[in-house]
Amino acid sequence: MAKRKIKIGLVDADLLCNGTRHPNLVLMKLAGFLNDNGIDFKLIIDQDEDIAPYKLIYISRVFTFTQMPAFYEKATPSEQRKFRKGGTGFYANELNVKIYRQKRDDDMSQLENDPFLCKYPNHRGGLRTNGIDLARQMPYYHLYDEFVDRKVAEGFKREKYKDYQQYSIGFLTRGCIRHCPFCINKLEDRILPYSNLDWFLDDERDEHGHLLRPYIYLWDDNFLAADPQIWRNKLQQLIDTGRPFQFRQGLDERMLAESPHGEEMAEMLSRTKYHGDFIFAFDNWKDRPKIEKALKIWKHYNPKKGTKFYLFCGFKQTADNREKFYRDIWEIFQRIRVLMQYGCVGYIMRHEDYHNSPIPNIYIQIARWCNQQAFYKKMSFWEYTYRNQTFWEQGAGFEVTRPIKPYEEFLRDYETGYYEREDSRGKVRKISRPLQTFLDFLDMFSEHKNELLEMFNYKLSNLKDPKLWE
Ligand code: SF4
Repeated sequence: MAKRKIKIGLVDADLLCNGTRHPNLVLMKLAGFLNDNGIDFKLIIDQDEDIAPYKLIYISRVFTFTQMPAFYEKATPSEQRKFRKGGTGFYANELNVKIYRQKRDDDMSQLENDPFLCKYPNHRGGLRTNGIDLARQMPYYHLYDEFVDRKVAEGFKREKYKDYQQYSIGFLTRGCIRHCPFCINKLEDRILPYSNLDWFLDDERDEHGHLLRPYIYLWDDNFLAADPQIWRNKLQQLIDTGRPFQFRQGLDERMLAESPHGEEMAEMLSRTKYHGDFIFAFDNWKDRPKIEKALKIWKHYNPKKGTKFYLFCGFKQTADNREKFYRDIWEIFQRIRVLMQYGCVGYIMRHEDYHNSPIPNIYIQIARWCNQQAFYKKMSFWEYTYRNQTFWEQGAGFEVTRPIKPYEEFLRDYETGYYEREDSRGKVRKISRPLQTFLDFLDMFSEHKNELLEMFNYKLSNLKDPKLWE
């Protein structure tokens, strides 16, 4: 009797739940290992996939809020034995440190100890003869092709899915030293080299000899805080490829201020072909002195480079802690003010706890303004909010004479019934949700009204001050 061919299913649960635009690197490496060993595999992209033909199904989940796919929920007890689950989405919100450490250690080592994978040889060198060596494993860069083709057939632009197609992806280093309580790396104490660049650098070319994946993106947790020998050599290797690259998780700007090599970092980075904006993080307001010192160094060497800072917020918000809520919003705007002074842009990163705050929608509105550079660079938060009101009015057929008006003028109109008056069609304007959220927030903190209005009117063109770094 002919032996049945083994088929392995790979599941990016975040993708199936519409929660990500990032390819899952572990799954790509797993696919690479299966491909090296001639084992049939498939990225499952249907919620109702028939799982009967699969011997094993590896499910990866990055976000804790991601729902498991329908075929998983419906599986019979015997089918459930096929599943192998892993990823930060299965433990990132564990609060007990001991349990968290155990779960993370188990998760980080489970694929390398997987009994099925360990039956097959490792083709990527190093000490390991059998099973997958995750650091050395070359990703299989075609894993998402069917998914992307399907999206294009549905009418989406292929460009929207460039992260799945145009990049070599990997970690040059792993680990961190900062112990941020909200981060999956909170228990890490050091940064070690992980993959060599050539272990994940793709060289596939089209019929004209052009690289299919001309860019590189890196998932390193805190590259600049690694030992100087490590970041210096690896950065030089990146420069030597001649390919544009990007550290997706951001670089630690504080290192420019803290390290005796801060100027060297800024100078080396100024010589790179960086892809898109440089991304740093300004997660804590208390880091302001370090961030400002670092910005002076950074802007001296990189006066014209687009520079973006992740702005973490929303952590540990609760419905009843009014002061904590105010402080969080206040700190967002103080950080934005510093960034605007140095001509940099912000990018709001919300912890999922923001949902628990008294007015969660204020975070959404601030993110919509801040994270879209066309708005952030041209308008204050107030102007953006009122522009939304205008869009709504125009869409509803109202005549608009002043698309953006100062808050005081809006207030006068508001109090004199402008938004309640019928127009010639007998229709009444209403206050759009963004504006209502803005007003609710002002109302909730009326004792801080002047301070809030000042913050909500911060504008890049007014605040940018080149004298700070020239
Ligand atoms: S610096 Fe970044 S990677 Fe390091 S612990 Fe903090 S958030 Fe995590």
